[in-house]
Formats: sequence, structure tokens, C-alpha cells
Amino acid sequence: MAQELVNALEPELKRLKREYIADSLVTLDGWTDEILAVIRKVSSRFSTPLFDAQVARVAASTISRAEADNAEEFRDSVNRAVGVDFQMIAKPKGMTDYLEASTAENVNLIKSIPADYFSRVETLVLGGMKDGLAPTAIARQIHDETGVNARRAKLIARDQISKLNSDLTRQRQTAAGIEFYKSVDAGDVRVSGAPGGKYPNAKISCYGIARQDIGYGPGIYKIADGATWNGVKGLHPGKHHILCRCVGLAMIPGVNYFPEKNG
Ligand SMILES: [Zn+2]
Repeated sequence: MAQELVNALEPELKRLKREYIADSLVTLDGWTDEILAVIRKVSSRFSTPLFDAQVARVAASTISRAEADNAEEFRDSVNRAVGVDFQMIAKPKGMTDYLEASTAENVNLIKSIPADYFSRVETLVLGGMKDGLAPTAIARQIHDETGVNARRAKLIARDQISKLNSDLTRQRQTAAGIEFYKSVDAGDVRVSGAPGGKYPNAKISCYGIARQDIGYGPGIYKIADGATWNGVKGLHPGKHHILCRCVGLAMIPGVNYFPEKNG
């Protein structure tokens, strides 16, 4: 996306440079139309039915791969707890609908990326030209914006996968008849609320959630309810905050969970 834009814009910016730099206020309107036409020609390539179909394919295959990984991870975690090989990979009732809804949501998220990107670039290019910046300076701003955009896209992708994982695990645990989970944080300095870590004063403390005891044992909660922290209810592992890395360990009574000990 960014490469196509730069390829199309660079020669235009160079060609128009003489017009928009210095005392050429008279021709102000001429170049804006031309440069906008160049940007829109590139951006229109990312809003065609063909592009939409590609987006839908990418979203569907990403979601289904994440679902398969989650099924395997769930099976392994139950096997570790129970100590026997439990082969069933269940796709509980309602999960297909949930996966379709997630795919649709992600299609919209992905489609919003080029739209946002090109509108920011338009603002940058027009602003830069009005200020009489050299094409190389404008190109550098586009380059920076592209980096910001790529980091934002990566963050959205990671957060979406982590939320999907959290929801799928919860659905699988519930379908397997499991009632409680233990919240386990990532155990490093980036854990929110960890004393001596990077974010000791975070509003939602994954560290605290993994340790507080609401009556079922430290860090143990009902799957149906999730945890409460700082007045925020329904906090589920993997979704405590953006990029939360906590996991919910299935608590199986008599296997790895002995409720009578906790009263
Ligand atoms: Zn967390």
C-alpha cells in the first residue's frame, strides 16, 4: 500500500515542486486537485470488490487458524491437568456463529486501515505542500506515518487474536462443564500492576487479579463471571486490558482444584 503510494506520489511531487514552493500562491488550487487525484487513484485500488474479497479470505483463514491453535492448546492444558490423553477437540454449540461474527468484525477492521491511512496521507501531503516543504521532506513524513500505521495495524492484530483466544477458551471450558479458572499472569516485568515492574500503577492489575482471593482460592474465579478489579466487572483472562497476556487455567475439581481447602 505504502510502496504504491510513494511510487505514484514522488514523480508528481517533484513535477509540482516549482508550482507549490515559494511565491506561487496564484496556482494554489491547481496542484491540490492533481495531487489528490494521484492519492485517490492509489487508494481506490484498496477499496475494490477484489480487494474486499482478499480481505475476507485473509480474515477467515486467520480466524480459523487461531481457532485450531486454541483447540489444540485447550486439549493440551486439559491433558496436563488430568494426566490422560483427552483427544476430543470440541467445537461447542454457538462457536461457529461466534467465529463468523469475529471474521466479519475483522474484515471491517482490516478495511478501515487503508481508509484511515490514505486520509492521513492526504492531510500530510496537502499540509506539507502548503508549507512549501521539499518533496523529500513530505516523503519522509509519509514514511513516518506508514511506520505508525503499520505498528497500529500490528497492535490491532495481536489484540484481536488475544481476545479471540480468550473467548474461545472460555466457550470450550464452559462446554466441558468446567466452572472455575485460575488467572495466571505472564510472570515478567511487563505484567500490569506487578510491584517493581514496568507498570506498577496500572488501573487494571493482572498481577493483582492473579493473586486476590474472592473465596475460591488465590486468582480463582467463576468462568461465567470473570474477575472484578478497581470497580471493573467481567474481566476475563486475555482481555483484562489491551494486549493482556493472562491465561485462564481450567480448574477441575479433585484434579487440580480442591475447593474444600479454600472453604
Ligand atoms: Zn491480564
